[in-house]
Amino acid sequence: MTEPSLPAIRVREVTRDYRRPRTSLTRPAPVVRALRGVSLDIARGQRFGIVGESGCGKSTLLRIIAGLDRPTTGSVQVEGVEISRLPERRLGFLRAQLQLVFQDPMGSLDPRMPVADIVAEPLVAQGHRDNAARVRELLEAVGLQPEAAERYPHQFSGGQRQRISIARALAPDPRILVADEPVSALDVSVRAQVLNLIADLVDRLSLTLVFVSHDLSVVRHVCDTVAVMHRGEIVEIGPTEQVYDAPEHPYARQLVAAAPRLRAALAGRTAADLAAETLAARSDLTRPDASPDSPRPTGSHPAGTHSEATPKDQP
Ligand code: ADP
Ligand code: MG
Repeated sequence: MTEPSLPAIRVREVTRDYRRPRTSLTRPAPVVRALRGVSLDIARGQRFGIVGESGCGKSTLLRIIAGLDRPTTGSVQVEGVEISRLPERRLGFLRAQLQLVFQDPMGSLDPRMPVADIVAEPLVAQGHRDNAARVRELLEAVGLQPEAAERYPHQFSGGQRQRISIARALAPDPRILVADEPVSALDVSVRAQVLNLIADLVDRLSLTLVFVSHDLSVVRHVCDTVAVMHRGEIVEIGPTEQVYDAPEHPYARQLVAAAPRLRAALAGRTAADLAAETLAARSDLTRPDASPDSPRPTGSHPAGTHSEATPKDQP
């Protein structure tokens, strides 16, 4: 067995340089230094948020942690195993331990596959058969009806599609869930519900969460610890409340000062208030398939309303 104090994820001095195509015959190819020496520990059960503006290296760091990309230099350990130099064929253990949810659920779900096959995909990859019962259980866990299993991604709203990707991520019973901007492509009115679902599942399944967003209020909603990234480096790291209430690094201060919804939250409004406000702001559009994204039956909001735009420009 591994020692209990071992962090779920340990990153040491990781750099990642991307070589851009040459623009001149005489000068060397330009290099983008996406990560410039990132170190962090994520404890088991921690809900670790990473914030920072677009292009600061958040997705690059997640891809490296998930074994989808390799660092130029540095070390990455997941559950004590050094993954940065593992050959492809030995990354199977990582797929069982760590699963990902991406920003764009439509882009990451095969449009030709029924939901049952999409959700069972990681199980099939691991050699499991007869997955129908497991798929039913997973759909229920993410708040979808059993009938969803026979339908196709385009028949769902954006929020529901993100529930399908969450169900698929949970299928192999991972210990670590990595989410890259999981609600950024969703309509504001369903963000709080999908965030609550993630927080709830992380809690119930005792998962370690690594959660990236450019939106500080979203990270505040689900994370106990936050790292602020700036130009490929982590400039501040600490308990979420502390970093948001009293940021120390000049860039972290700037980021917090520029987040209006966060300022509202710090002024006393809770995540539940924000969720209630977004629900109240929804129009009265009724959609028959809206139920899983509808508010929980608290009695204080009209159920079944749905104003979410369905992205049509994606494959
Ligand atoms: P974030 O997720 O914070 O928006 P990324 O990790 O996607 O940032 O990108 C960090 C930097 O690395 C950006 O300058 C981006 O253009 C560059 N980059 C990311 N992926 C590649 C790639 N495959 N090839 C070249 N440059 C890349
Ligand atoms: Mg990104």
